[in-house]
Amino acid sequence: MSEVRVRMAPSPSGFLHVGTARTTIYNWLFARHHRGKFILRIEDTDVSRSNQKMVDAILESLRWLGLNWDEGPYYQSQRMAHYQRYAQKLLENGKAYFCFCSPDELEEKRRQAMDLKAPLKYDRTCLRLSEAEKEERIKRGVPKAIRLFVPEGETAFSDLVYGELKKQNEELDDLIILRSNQTPTYNFACVVDDVEMRITHVIRGNDHIANTFKQLLIYDALGLAPPKFAHIPLILGKDRAKISKRHGAISVMEYKEKGFLREALVNYLALLGWSPKDDREILSIDQMIELFSLEGVNPSNPIFDQEKLEWMNGEYIRATEDQKLLDLVLPFLIKEKLITEHTAKRKREWLLKFISLFKERCKTLKEFAEKGKYFFEFSHQYEPEALSKYFSAPEAADRLNVLAERLSELETFEKAEIEQTLRGLADKMKIKSAALIHPVRLATTGTSTGPPLFDLLELLGKGEVIKRIKKAIEFIQTKL
Ligand code: GLU
Repeated sequence: MSEVRVRMAPSPSGFLHVGTARTTIYNWLFARHHRGKFILRIEDTDVSRSNQKMVDAILESLRWLGLNWDEGPYYQSQRMAHYQRYAQKLLENGKAYFCFCSPDELEEKRRQAMDLKAPLKYDRTCLRLSEAEKEERIKRGVPKAIRLFVPEGETAFSDLVYGELKKQNEELDDLIILRSNQTPTYNFACVVDDVEMRITHVIRGNDHIANTFKQLLIYDALGLAPPKFAHIPLILGKDRAKISKRHGAISVMEYKEKGFLREALVNYLALLGWSPKDDREILSIDQMIELFSLEGVNPSNPIFDQEKLEWMNGEYIRATEDQKLLDLVLPFLIKEKLITEHTAKRKREWLLKFISLFKERCKTLKEFAEKGKYFFEFSHQYEPEALSKYFSAPEAADRLNVLAERLSELETFEKAEIEQTLRGLADKMKIKSAALIHPVRLATTGTSTGPPLFDLLELLGKGEVIKRIKKAIEFIQTKL
């Protein structure tokens, strides 16, 4: 095989959709697997709908995902002369023709066709114009588009995911390739660019299959061999509708903001519809590059499963070394104003312990800030249900008081020592350890679940633990 050259050609929309991200991942993996080139092209011919800010948002997402490109970004808006040149060539070869019909006339034709239940196709009025008639219109300056002449016959191709696909040309319209304002339509610009960028494989969503037939007609008219095509099934939500905002986050950056790791998101999206032919689910980027093939893409639509993505993210969090994980979590703690960058530098050792304590329990980076909030600020709010369970016994305050006294006598505040003290006290009180464990957890964290209590108390530190227990006693005595 000659050098593989694939491309991703997003239209600037202001964000990168997870579906587009997945198609990009497939292109990227395919290029890396074959040691080929991955090219980025921005389809911004509709200048009114695109600006650099929207493009930047897409580039930022691709960079975050680590999907580096070898060429580009090329901007279609800067390549108008190419499209015009190719259209001119088709005109000269009689493969395309001028169409002078105005939007109103076309609309009227469409309405008539609809009334007659006839196919909604251009009726070739302008193809039948004589040279003189054409000249006359050109002289008058009538706006003119260029249409492709679709010959009779059949258009077929072998899709690398779906197999043989074909369509009768009579079902296809003489499509406009260059609008009267000299801008190309999507299908035409796409073919010209894929030709000029020497694309060998077009890997894109299966919503483009209908376009592929049109594009094949353009390749034919240009007398050029088309690339290979692989259409990727679209991602559906649990309700089997195409995934959209309704199903939750759909933009890659939203996942970043929610605390997903880029490796987890790439892994999850890659395996959404592709499998390396075994049941492994956690694959490193290098493994995916090694194993990726288009034959492994399943032609049926995959369902986006948010819980599975969260599970996978949790697996990645646990597999991340603490120092690196802290660097990833820190921006979330800072954003929630739980710590400043300056303090974080000073308390790095302490923060590392915090990370290792919560690592097993967090599925996203953001959850460290949510679940571990009480380590940084405590509002003395207690879970209402736990409160009636653990603070309402008549002896609750007394028990906590004795415990606080014992704990304050400890020289070093280490978990083994804390545990010994608490269990010893429970024995003396002739109560189960749990009768102290639950209230003290509630007193110091406001919650009834979390990391192992003794680790947690050690990390909070003696002063803070005693202070929080005292506050809880005050609460029990005054509010209950
Ligand atoms: N701009 C098109 C899109 O975003 C590109 C389709 C293609 O890959 O040809 O859907």
